[in-house]
Parts: sequence; structure tokens; C-alpha cells
Amino acid sequence: MANLLVIAEHDGGQLKQVTLSAVAFAQRVIAQTGGSFGILVIGENVAGTADQLRQYGAAAVLVAEHAQLKHPISDRYARVIADVATQHRATFVVGTASTFSKDILPRAAALLDAGMLSDVIEVRPDGDDFIFKRVMFAGNVIATAKLDGVVRFLTVRAAAFTHSTKASESSPVASIPVEADRLPAFIEYEGREAKVAGRPDPTEARVVVSGGRALKNAEDFERLIGGLADALGGAAGSSRALVDAGITPNSLQVGQTGKIVAPDLYIAVGISGAIQHLAGMKDTKVIVAINKDADAPIFEVADYGLVGDAYQVVPELVEKLKK
Ligand SMILES: Cc1cc2nc3c(=O)[nH]c(=O)nc-3n(C[C@H](O)[C@H](O)[C@H](O)COP(=O)(O)OP(=O)(O)OC[C@H]3O[C@@H](n4cnc5c(N)ncnc54)[C@H](O)[C@@H]3O)c2cc1C
Repeated sequence: MANLLVIAEHDGGQLKQVTLSAVAFAQRVIAQTGGSFGILVIGENVAGTADQLRQYGAAAVLVAEHAQLKHPISDRYARVIADVATQHRATFVVGTASTFSKDILPRAAALLDAGMLSDVIEVRPDGDDFIFKRVMFAGNVIATAKLDGVVRFLTVRAAAFTHSTKASESSPVASIPVEADRLPAFIEYEGREAKVAGRPDPTEARVVVSGGRALKNAEDFERLIGGLADALGGAAGSSRALVDAGITPNSLQVGQTGKIVAPDLYIAVGISGAIQHLAGMKDTKVIVAINKDADAPIFEVADYGLVGDAYQVVPELVEKLKK
């Protein structure tokens, strides 16, 4: 029977909603074949995060707290995950496909000599085992795969597992003793420079407004894309063309080599719809494209399209939304 360990993601104690996709995955596996799942929260002062995760039917919410785990330093977190997976005889360790998971889960899998599948979008039982579907090559290939081993590692695409359900009873919280001398000290945390954007992260937001090469400079991006995002209470995103041009920061890039987003609404402004960009947003529920070229490929994936000059239509849209 499956015994899953879900790895929670948080930012300084603030639970990241993408965690709930890994929870939804675990719930689906349990519903198919029985078994149970635990949720592991690693960090310092993360009792609040653990508390929020008690409502999803986990057998336990496990908390590994230590001053040395305050920041998500990959080799330390990997050590903790590997140890907890072993102690709890986890058959699967699951995280949401994200920068955090990409950094940490393969290291934990390597510590246990375990196999790993990333970007899983489907799971179905196969006798005592499971068959997974995963996205490869920017979404152009869907691979069907099985994993061998006592413990197996997975990351799941947030857009594929959206419905985590709440349980009637709260899960117990259990503290995991952390042996500080077992934590590697090869990587030292120096500091973090985070831009105070005032807007949500594109991976967390229900609405994402992204701008492309049509935007000529950072001021125009902020006025048009930032303005529309603010009017809708959403996040701003960007194509790689603007990142490469130094107009937008890397953290806003959506696509194959950027962030994978799956909001309720994605508005692509002056973005042509290159396959590498689509790889990051095509699981969106509703896609709106604004482009002055009626033949732009983005219109092929858009649910709604507006042919027009972004510099004209976006301010009009913002004006109307404000009213
Ligand atoms: C290995 C690899 C990885 C990549 N990863 C990514 C990635 O993660 N994310 C990503 O985005 N790209 C990625 N790319 C780059 C990708 O191939 C495209 O070059 C890029 O997405 C193009 O960005 P764009 O649509 O903004 O620009 P363009 O393709 O130049 O399109 C600009 C669009 O704006 C329209 N336009 C121009 N002016 C206006 C106006 N005034 N009003 C309205 N519309 C207007 C044009 O009609 C055009 O359709 C990657 C490429 C490679 C090779």
C-alpha cells in the first residue's frame, strides 16, 4: 500500500499554495489504492504552516524545525527528507514541480539511490504498482513511465492536481528530531535579495498578465502590464524576450526555462506564442491574447483574442476595469 510523504513548500513560514497540488496527488493515490500520506514541513518557526496543513487528511503533519533549517539550503533539506523518508518507510516522496523541488528533491533521491520522475500529470494504479504520465520536451511529449525501487521520488504539475479536499478531522502534528551534526555544511546561506514587488508570484496567482517584446521599456511594462495586473488583482509575468532585453527580471519569466503557471486567467500582451513560452502557461483555464498581428500563433491557444495595439487597448481596458 502506498505510503506517501508530501514535502511542504513555504516562504519563511508562509505556506505556498502549490503544496496543495502535491497533497491532491497524494489524496488521489490513496483514493485509488488505499494507504496513507504524511506531510513534512521543514524550517524554523513553521508551526503556523504545519497547522494550516492539518485539514487535508494526512496521517500526520511532520515538523522538522531547527535554526540551521531556517533557509531552504538544498543539501540540508535533502538530508532531512531522505532521513524522514527512511524512518517513515515512505514509498513515494512527492513535491510540486517548482524551483524549490527541482533544487532539493533530486538531491534527496540521490542520497537514497532512488529513482525520480518530474512533471507528473497523471497517475493510475497498475496491480500493486502505479503508472505515471509525465510531460517532457516543453510539453511536446507525454511519456508513460513506471518507477522501480523501495522509495520513489516525484514532482507533480500543479495544473494537473488542483483539487485537494479537506478532511473532517485535523491531522496530528509530530515533531521530528533534527540531528544538527548530520546536516551538511558545504553551503552557507549568505543572504537573499528579494524585490518587493507588491504583487503575487506568477505561480501563486489566479490571474497572470504577461508582456512580451511589444513592450519597449521597463516603464511601459510597469504602466501597461503592471497596471492591468493591478486592476485585476493579479501577478505580472513576462516572455523571455523582455528578460533577455533587461526590461524584466528573471523571476517574471514564464515558459520552458522560466516559471510554469496555471492560473484561472492568463492575459498575454504582445507575446507571439513561441512553443517555449506556451510550455509555461498552456494549462491555464482561460487564455486571453492581445496582439496586433491577427496571425500570431498565440491566437491558436487563446480562448479570447483581441487584435490591436497594446499601447492603445491596454490603457482602455485598465480604465474600464477601474470603473
Ligand atoms: C531553449 C529555449 C528556451 C526558451 N525558453 C523560453 C521561456 O521560458 N519563455 C519564453 O517566453 N521564451 C523562451 N524562449 C524564447 C522563445 O523562443 C521566443 O523567442 C520568445 O518567447 C519570444 O518572446 P515574445 O513573444 O515576447 O517576442 P516575439 O516573438 O518577438 O513576439 C512579439 C509579439 O508582439 C506583437 N506586437 C508587437 N508590437 C505590438 C503592439 N504594439 N501591440 C500588440 N502586439 C504587438 C507581435 O505581433 C509579436 O507577435 C526560449 C527559447 C529557447 C531556444
